[in-house]
Parts: sequence; C-alpha cells; structure tokens
Amino acid sequence: MAATVLEIDLAALAHNFNYLKSKVKPGIKMLAVTKAFGYGSDAVAVARKLESLGVDYFAVAYAEEGVALRNGDIITPILVLHPQIGSFEMMIEYCLEPNLYSYRVIDAFIASAKAKQLHNYPVHIKFNTGLNRLGFKPGNEDNLLKVLKTTEAIKVKSLFSHLVASEDLDEKEFTLKQISTFKNCAKKMIDGLGYTPILHQSNTSGILNFPEAQFDMVRTGIGLYGYGNDPEKDAKLLPVATLKSVISQIHDIKVGESVGYNRAHIAKKPERSATIPLGHADGISREYGNGSGYVTINGKKAPILGNVCMDMVMADVTEIDCEEGDEVLVFGKGAPLPELAKKVGSISYELLTAISQRVKRKIINR
Ligand SMILES: *Cc1c(COP(=O)(O)O)cnc(C)c1O
Repeated sequence: MAATVLEIDLAALAHNFNYLKSKVKPGIKMLAVTKAFGYGSDAVAVARKLESLGVDYFAVAYAEEGVALRNGDIITPILVLHPQIGSFEMMIEYCLEPNLYSYRVIDAFIASAKAKQLHNYPVHIKFNTGLNRLGFKPGNEDNLLKVLKTTEAIKVKSLFSHLVASEDLDEKEFTLKQISTFKNCAKKMIDGLGYTPILHQSNTSGILNFPEAQFDMVRTGIGLYGYGNDPEKDAKLLPVATLKSVISQIHDIKVGESVGYNRAHIAKKPERSATIPLGHADGISREYGNGSGYVTINGKKAPILGNVCMDMVMADVTEIDCEEGDEVLVFGKGAPLPELAKKVGSISYELLTAISQRVKRKIINR
C-alpha cells in the first residue's frame, strides 16, 4: 500500500456540480472540463460520476484525453479544445468534436471529414474576444460562413469564446466588452448559418460572477474540483482531491546540523524533522522548499526544511506532537489548497495538475 495517495472524493464532486448548476438559469447546459487528467483528479472516475449526474458535455484539451474518456465508457459528447491536425483521424474514430480555431485547422478538418465521407460532423468554432490564445478574431464571420457553406461534411454544434479575467472584478469592464463582442460574432454567424448552435463563454468564475455570460451552456473546471478563485466562493465548494502521506522517519537535529541536500537548512536551535515520502517527482515543486511550502500534521503547519528532494521532503515538526507513521496532509480536506498555493507563489490549478502519476489515486464515496 502506497503511503502517499491523492484521495478523490466523488461525493464532494457531486456537491460542487449541483452547486454550480444551481448558479445557472434552468435549462442551461453544463459542460465539465476534464483536461489534464481531470485537473489531476482521475478524469475517467470524475467523468463517470458527472455523467451519472446528467452533465451535458465534456471538454478536454487534447485528443488523447478524449480517447481516454471513451475508453472509460464515457458516451457524452466531448469537445477537444486544442486539437492538433495530426489527431483528426483518431478524433473522428472516437467521436471527439474539434474546436476549429483558425482557417488552417478548419480547412484541414474539412479535408479529413470529406475523406471519411462524413455528414454534419459536429464541430465548434471559437472566437478570440481578447485572450489572444486561440480563436478567430471578430470580423471573420463572413469569411468563415463562406468556408462553412462549401461543405456538408461538418456542422457547427457550438460557437464559443473564453473570458480573460472572469475572477477579477477590477476587470469587469473588459469582461463585459468580451461578452458583447461575443454576442455580436454569434449573431452574425447565426444569421448566416440559418440555424442556432449552442453558445458558451463562461468558465467557473464566469458562472459565479457574470450571469449575463451564461448563454446556452457554461464550462466549468476548477469549480467542480472545489475551488472558486476567491475565499467566499471556495466556502461553498468542497475539495475533491486531498493529497495525503505519512511520516517515514523523525530526526532530532542539533544546533549547527543541516537538513537535506546542499545543507540548505541549518538548525539554529534544537529541532525535529519529519521525512515524508513525497518529492518533486510527485509534483511537489522545489518552490515548496526552504520554508515557502508546508504540510499539515495533526492540524498544525510544518514548514518544509531545506530543498525538496526527488522522492522526499523534510518538514519542521519541532512544535508538533507527532510520531513516525502519523498522517501528513499536503492539500485538500483539512489543508486548504488556495492558502498553500499563495504561499508557494502559485494557483490552485497548477498545484492540482502538478501531482504526477506516481501518486496513486484513491477514489472514495463513489
Ligand atoms: C480550462 C478551460 C476552462 C475551465 O476553466 P475553469 O476556470 O477551470 O472553470 C473553460 N474553458 C476553456 C476554453 C478552458 O481552456
């Protein structure tokens, strides 16, 4: 039995899904984002639970992530947010629906769809309303419509865009501009197409902060996993992933002795260190080292001493009543992730997705 596990609480996931659904108007579809191994939380287990709860759509970043869901018996439609031209054949084979974000990609997908003699294959068109990451700039509608009218191999299932700063109310004006820009693009497209695809623009913070951006569907990622990008919102959600380990060994450190590689920590007073089987190979980055990060033992914070090793960290337990074999929490239930993320100069998204596949996922509360 591995000492270090990432416990995935599917009852917490269900709570978060239902909470987020309660925040959108009735009838609006829910798309669950399960890219990056379900934000580190076992995409297939997460997707199966969400499918049983009636989710309408899934999104992944890359085709292979969609294939993994299909191999896990997921039958709900799957949008691939960042498909690569080389994976179109595989996508068609597994019924994965591409985001077509440029003329290069749309032309290539039409060619693949024609070669397979497809009819009305569902595709999604993305507009770049300010993020400058993927998508057609507003103003391309007429050209796009021309391209789309050349073929019946594909059909536009949705039109979408992505918000830049939906969690930041100081950027409210910018977000409202993005919403109206998207509305405009969508209107021109709908007029030209003669039918109405699904419209969607909101991510989790969009759901929580901008009801005017709900359109026909919302896309939620981080919220499903328990985080709302601000403490007030976090309070309504439950952490799905809890990273747990144990104390392997405790050392008494004398004044002047060092702990870990390169003697990065030198004891100025008598100390006790706890060695924990979790290192940078597990996704605990070196940024956690030298007191920036901490673990939680018996309800108390134990700062990381010295450098993070590949397979271990040492934590300061001088002031903590604990013994070898005791449980260690890194983040999740009982050890709030946003607070730790802030401390190590990161965000919840990065810490969750960083946990490597060496760490066993243990599903609870199916
Ligand atoms: C990752 C992603 C999301 C999910 O965002 P959250 O902030 O995790 O809810 C939604 N839409 C797109 C296009 C994404 O890339």
